[in-house]
Amino acid sequence: MFDRASVVTPGGVNSPVRAFRAVGGTPRFMVSGTGPYLTDADGREYVDLVCSWGPMILGHSHPEVIAAVQEAVARGTSFGTPGEGEVALAEQIVARIEPVEQVRLVSSGTEATMSAIRLARGFTGRAKVVKFAGCYHGHVDALLAAAGSGLATFGLPDTPGVTGATAGDTVVLPYNDLDAVRAAFAAHPGEIACVITEASPGNMGVVPPADGFNAGLKELCAADGALYISDEVMTGFRTSKAGWYGVDGVRPDLMTFGKVMGGGFPAAAFGGRADVMAHLAPAGPVYQAGTLSGNPVATAAGLAQLRLLDDAAYAKIDAVSAELRTLVGDALTKEGVAHTVSSASNMFSVFFTDQPVRNYEDAKQQEAFRFTAFFHAMLERGVYLPPSAFESWFVSTAHDERAIERVAAALPAAARAASEAAA
Ligand code: PLP
Repeated sequence: MFDRASVVTPGGVNSPVRAFRAVGGTPRFMVSGTGPYLTDADGREYVDLVCSWGPMILGHSHPEVIAAVQEAVARGTSFGTPGEGEVALAEQIVARIEPVEQVRLVSSGTEATMSAIRLARGFTGRAKVVKFAGCYHGHVDALLAAAGSGLATFGLPDTPGVTGATAGDTVVLPYNDLDAVRAAFAAHPGEIACVITEASPGNMGVVPPADGFNAGLKELCAADGALYISDEVMTGFRTSKAGWYGVDGVRPDLMTFGKVMGGGFPAAAFGGRADVMAHLAPAGPVYQAGTLSGNPVATAAGLAQLRLLDDAAYAKIDAVSAELRTLVGDALTKEGVAHTVSSASNMFSVFFTDQPVRNYEDAKQQEAFRFTAFFHAMLERGVYLPPSAFESWFVSTAHDERAIERVAAALPAAARAASEAAA
């Protein structure tokens, strides 16, 4: 299948990290998913610790989500008109996340961040955007400077195809460094439209904000008249009922969402202060649109998933995450492998270094070759990890004791492989 794909698709994949280039080997083609398991084209089953990079927070093929989708599909798949499902999903988002007074639905996290930045520029009449090295906000041209995720994987600081003019208005700063943000505002007074940050980064591995970092960003933005945009595409509806906002309570001007809110379908959103959102077309002059925005099948899936995500669901996900973090840490310690299990609520990843990781530069100091050995040993034993040392691991409510036992059974050999790996 990979050979077939490689003929008709660049690199054989439709999103770079799926190609396994960071870890080598042939990517697995998955044919089905049930609960915490994925089954590949050769019939092998894996415990899935990627969960589609976040969306599958209830596990695969959750019966209530599938039923909602089937019911929606039976009524038609796209109308290009307003519909009740999108209103209900917007109401659910507004009800859960207090700073979101109004929300606009889009189809991908990339669209959400791209549109939020356009809106911030339109609202403030300013051009510059501050972002942090290692934070990934989708493949928005202006934000593909020192981004994480696939770019962290490939070690590309930037990408051809983004013009100097586009990147020229982007100021890239080290993460968790408020002094650098202060200096940027001092260097460009009245020119910065917004600071965009992952609410708690998961695209350089999991690197949580230091105490007071997000609050400091908010303060510096407010003092200069810039907008504070919290990208919750990854953390939203995952790290708590109200995402990372529910954890640190720092009130953004604008927020972006995706992944979990689509229930495995393309649905994403941006929203926030009503006076800012009022600048968006057709209410205001900042243009933004989408043929499939608020798609009835995607919104039905997202709504069904969000309705199932109650306090008990988050308690379960937190417990699964804590158990896995302990198991992984213990296995690596036992083999004497230098590591840090880094977590932010129930998101976590392993850095193969025992030095503190506070930003992208720190993350890159890890011995990523040990992750490669660890990854393949886990894969051979039926555990599907993100194929990169710079990605968060994701768990779901469906990860039960049987699934955790299978991970535990694979860990000793994987930890040994990591310990024996050579650069
Ligand atoms: N923002 C963050 C924090 C993300 O993690 C991602 C994707 O991983 C995006 C934005 C882009 O979302 P999408 O892949 O749906 O375009």
